[in-house]
Amino acid sequence: MIIFSEKQIKALFTYCIEGLPNECCGLLAGIIEDGIKTVTHIFYLKNTDQSPEHFSMDIKEQFQVISQIRKNNLQLVGNFHSHPSTPSRPSAEDIRLAFDPNLSYVIISLQERENPVINSFNIKDSKAGKDQLQVME
Ligand SMILES: [Zn+2]
Repeated sequence: MIIFSEKQIKALFTYCIEGLPNECCGLLAGIIEDGIKTVTHIFYLKNTDQSPEHFSMDIKEQFQVISQIRKNNLQLVGNFHSHPSTPSRPSAEDIRLAFDPNLSYVIISLQERENPVINSFNIKDSKAGKDQLQVME
């Protein structure tokens, strides 16, 4: 399970909408307790692909974020990216590129602009499973 605050969800949606027509991406940090991930920090990273169909996170930014996460005694709990015109589930490429079965892969679909959809997935052995995503006030 992964837990976001309502404010974080709103911020994610706003960021991804502002990034249209391209995909947006970033990293999620927080705490993990009894297998429950609580997101405390969202890091917005540059999509160096500048594409509506795929993304690559800026390597330099990734290193900076990871060291910031360590410095603050937090953990990397997952990452997020947007799908400007496809559903909120991992594409074949997302599954192929997933490298860590412990991370949450959060996908925000803007297929319906007025009604963004967010889901979290775990990806293991080339299979994607849906995580429970909870939004707290
Ligand atoms: Zn994707």
